[in-house]
Amino acid sequence: MFDALSEKLQATLADVRGRGTLTEDDIKKAMREIRLALLEADVNFKVVKEFTNTVRERCMGADIVGQLNPGQQVVKIVHEELEALMGGQSGDIVFSPRPPTVILMAGLQGSGKTTATAKLAKFLQKEHGSSVGVAACDVYRPAAVDQLVKVGGQVGATVYEQGTDRDPVDIARWALDQAKQDGKDVLIVDTSGRLHVDEKLMEELKNIRTAVRPHNILLVVDAMTGQDAVNVAEQFGAAVNFDGVIMSKLDGDARGGAALSVKAVTGKPILFASTGEKLDQFERFHPDRMAQRILG
Ligand code: GDP
Repeated sequence: MFDALSEKLQATLADVRGRGTLTEDDIKKAMREIRLALLEADVNFKVVKEFTNTVRERCMGADIVGQLNPGQQVVKIVHEELEALMGGQSGDIVFSPRPPTVILMAGLQGSGKTTATAKLAKFLQKEHGSSVGVAACDVYRPAAVDQLVKVGGQVGATVYEQGTDRDPVDIARWALDQAKQDGKDVLIVDTSGRLHVDEKLMEELKNIRTAVRPHNILLVVDAMTGQDAVNVAEQFGAAVNFDGVIMSKLDGDARGGAALSVKAVTGKPILFASTGEKLDQFERFHPDRMAQRILG
C-alpha cells in the first residue's frame, strides 16, 4: 500500500532537501514530480491539481526561494497538505445520549462491509466498553447472514438475524427493538450491497434509514478499487448522506488513490481503516500517521 507513491515522493523530497538553496524552477520541477506520482497512485486528477497548486503557492509564499536549507520547509508543507487532504483530524462515531447508538453500514457487495461490521463491533467493545448488537440485513448475498453470525459471534457481539426470507427493513426494525430490550449500547446494521450502485439498493438503504434512524451512516469503501471506489462514494453520498468512510483492504497493494481522494471528493472523512482479514486488523484512521507513513 502506498509503496510506489512513497518511493517517488521520498525521492523527490530527498532531492529537494539535499539542495542548499532552491530556485523557483526547482520548486516547479518538484511539483511536477509530485503531480505525476499522485496521478500514478490513482489520485483523482482534480484533487491532484488542487493539491499541487496549494503546495506550490505555500512554498512560494513561505519565502524559501534562495534561503538556506529550504528543503525542510518544503517537506513540512507537503506533509501538512497530505494530512489536510485526508481530513486533518481523526474522527469518531457519534454516540447517542439515548442508547442504542445506531450505525448503518453501507457499501457495494465485496467491499468488506460484513467483515467491517464485526470488526467495528470488536473495536467499540474494546475502545468504548460498549455492548454491541449487529443486525443481519444483507439478505441477498448468499451466505452473508451466516457470515455475520459467524464473525459477529467470534467478536462476542449479539447477532440479530431472521434468515433471508424476511424484508430487510422489517429485520432492521425488529433488531432495533431487540437491541433496546437487551440494553445494547450500540447496534450496527449490516445492509446488502450490490455489484454496482442501483436504485433498488439506494431505495432499500433509505427505507432502512427511515426505519432505524441511524446516528451514523458509514460507507465501506474498498481501497483496492482506486478511482472506482471514489466514484461509488460520490454516488452513495448523493443518495444517502453518509457521515464517514471505512476504508477497507488498506493492507493490499492498492496504490493509495482512494484513500487520498475520498475526503476531497465527497467531503466525508475516513474514520476507520480495515487492514486485513483478521477481525482485529481494524483501526482508527489517523491522517497525520498516514502522511508520515507515505513520506517516511
Ligand atoms: P461484503 O460483501 O461487503 O459484506 O464483503 P465481505 O465482508 O464479505 O468481504 C469480502 C472479502 O474481502 C472477504 O473475503 C473478506 O475476508 C475480505 N476483506 C474484508 N476486509 C478486508 C481487509 O481489510 N483486508 C483484506 N485483505 N481483505 C478483506
